[in-house]
Parts: sequence; structure tokens; C-alpha cells
Amino acid sequence: MRPTFSTLWIWDRVGDRLPWYLAVAEDRMPSKYLVARRIPCDLDLPGATEDDLWREHDRTTARFLDVWQAVRRHELRTSDLPQVEPSLLDLSTEIVTRMLGHCAFCRWNCRVDRRAGTKRGTCQLGTDSRVSSYFAHHGEELVFRGTHGSGTVFFTSCNLRCAFCQNSDISHDKENGIRVSPREVSAMAWQLRQEGCHNINWVGGEPTVHLHTIVEAIRRLGTPPNPEDHAHVQSVNPEAAWPSRRPAASGVYEGEFNAPMLWNSNFFMSSETMRILHPLVDVWLSDFKFGNDRCAVFLSRTPWYFETVARNHKLVYDWGEDLVIRHLIMPHHVECCTKPVLDWIAENTPQALVNVMDQYRPEYACDRFSPAYDDRYRTLSRRPSAEEVLAAYAYARNLGLRFVELSMEKNVTGLPA
Ligand code: SF4
Repeated sequence: MRPTFSTLWIWDRVGDRLPWYLAVAEDRMPSKYLVARRIPCDLDLPGATEDDLWREHDRTTARFLDVWQAVRRHELRTSDLPQVEPSLLDLSTEIVTRMLGHCAFCRWNCRVDRRAGTKRGTCQLGTDSRVSSYFAHHGEELVFRGTHGSGTVFFTSCNLRCAFCQNSDISHDKENGIRVSPREVSAMAWQLRQEGCHNINWVGGEPTVHLHTIVEAIRRLGTPPNPEDHAHVQSVNPEAAWPSRRPAASGVYEGEFNAPMLWNSNFFMSSETMRILHPLVDVWLSDFKFGNDRCAVFLSRTPWYFETVARNHKLVYDWGEDLVIRHLIMPHHVECCTKPVLDWIAENTPQALVNVMDQYRPEYACDRFSPAYDDRYRTLSRRPSAEEVLAAYAYARNLGLRFVELSMEKNVTGLPA
């Protein structure tokens, strides 16, 4: 008999580290956003200063965490609480909309007015968001792709400039895909969950640079799309069936649209963005690429890398959130990047699930056959060797990291008992 999402073998191995995500994916628990929708905000949002908004955000987040924990302990159900307006969701939307006027979504802290569009930050974006594709992704980790795929929304553009980017058509071409409104993004999420996807996977490029669109889309989740939204989002995904090819088998909690929000990111977010995401994200999927800033500057032209990404991982871990950390083994970077990253994880987030990935391939400026090739990156122009991959695995194993299931799950027969 074919396994269902709930009966996949992997939950016996790693389910203890992703309990909230699993419960929401199975509709045994409501997504955080359904709780946030019930946390009242006591401010007149349009008339409040940004300082007032952030103070209220701190207060309502604290209230959210109390209620969320009660829900987790089965002491409270969302149906016990009325939906309110304005709620923590409305407040979060107001804050990120204001932040567009002096953008600090990520650690670049450009402080440009993205609404005016007269000066661009590192990501080169104004207020528009574009999506290059959205679909049930069957290439993510088993815990995310499950049996019906991860409901992935690929936004264009990025705030890092990685020489080896595996998605350069999306990350470096901000005109890729179609322009989308938050309502249309919400329609994409609705469709993906109706098709049976186990989560809504916000990714890019990088989702952080589209924080305003994603937060507003989450606020709107649950309303079936109208025909105009359908026609527009369908244009980026013409092969997708609409309405769903099969009746919804999942995605409802106490009569409301329900789906885990998966933040699939390079983790170069600002502290402010972390505060916004805390009551909205159900499971975090991070990239921890570089073990030092010298490699980050050389390979991604990004300063403050290690301190920022480490801080955000530590925050998520100390909050007790569900977290999967990805680390890509790069040729010639086992000593300077892989080992320091794994050391940091062992010391600071020792119980986090880790995917030590061996699938690096030379792309973009590292690909000798690409017009973008840059000879400064010639040492990155091959796949990692078997020795490098095995050295990374051995190092992770010696540190006692929980990496085997996610790193080797496609070779399940080779997993140790
Ligand atoms: S998202 Fe980051 S890179 Fe883009 S303008 Fe804002 S702070 Fe700068």
C-alpha cells in the first residue's frame, strides 16, 4: 500500500524535531496565522507612528505566544476565539508596508524608499513583486515534498549575489515571471493547498525582499480566488489544472483554510523581519552557506554574513521553532566553510535537523560553459569530490548532528538503523 504523508517512514526518525509543522500539515493544529488573526491590536493603525506600531507588535506577539502555547497544549481551540480587526496580522501588514519607505527587510539595511523608486537598494527592487513559477515541488526534502509536493512559490530577485547561484534566471533577472498582487499570491497558495500540497513554501530568489507582499498574502489567506486572479496567476503556470484536479483532501482546520507557512530563505533577514515572521512562520528552512565572511564576500559579495545568519538561526532555535538547516558542500570549501558551519550548529543549535547537501554543481559565474563565467571562480567550477562529501559527512557524524535522514533519505536503504 502506498504511504500517505502521515505514514511516511521519515516521521519515525525526525518527527520529534518538526512536531508543530507536522500537526499543521495534517490539520490537527491551526497554522500560526489563524491564531494571529485572533490577537487583537489596540491601535488606530493609519494614525499610529512606527514606534507605536512596533511597541504594539511586541505586546501582541507576547499575547500571541501565550495563546499559541495554549493551543499547542490543547487547552484552547481557535474556534474559542473570535476573529478580530485589526489583528496582529493587520498590524504586521501595516508595519511592513511602512518599512517599504525606508527598507530594512534584510541586513543590507539600505534605508531606500522603495515606494518612490528613485534610489534602489542592493536587491534593486521597488514595491512590485514578481513570481516566476509556482507548483507542487517534488524535489525538496521528504518532510516537505511528502507525497503530494511542497506548494512552492518562486519569487524573483535576491539580496545575495552568489557566483554559483543555481537559480540565476530567477535571482538575477528581476523581470522574470509575472507581476503579482498579494491577493494573487494568496490565490496561488490556495490552489496549491487545494491540490494537496503539504505546505506553502515561500522561496525565490529570496522571499525576504518580498516581505510586504508575502505578509499581506498571508493576511488574505483563505478566500477562494476570483476569476480575474485565477486568469492572471494561471498565466505563469499554464500547465496547472484549475480548479484542483481532485477534491481537497487537506487544508481545513475548524472550517478555515489551513496550511503550514514554510520560510525557505538565505536567512540574511534583519532583526525587524525576524520579529515580523515569528508569529507567522510554522517551519523554517534555512541556508547556512559560508563559514566566514571572507568566503561570503568573495563568493556572494555580501558583508556581515556570518554574524547575521548565525544570529537568525540562534533566534529561531531559542524560540523553540521547527527548523531545518541546509548546508551545501562546495568544492575547496570544506575546511573554510563546511566545518565551521557544522561546528557552529553543534555548539549553538545542536538538535536542529541538518541537510548536508552534496548536489552542488557549477552554475552561473562558476560554469565554464556559461557566458557569465568568471575565471576568479575556477576552483568552484567542478562538483565536490567524493572525498569532500565523505569528509563533510564524517565531520557531521563526529559532531553528533542530526543530518543522516535528511541528507541521505533518497538512499533510505543505506540509512543506519
Ligand atoms: S530588501 Fe534588503 S537589499 Fe532590498 S532594499 Fe531592502 S534592505 Fe536593501
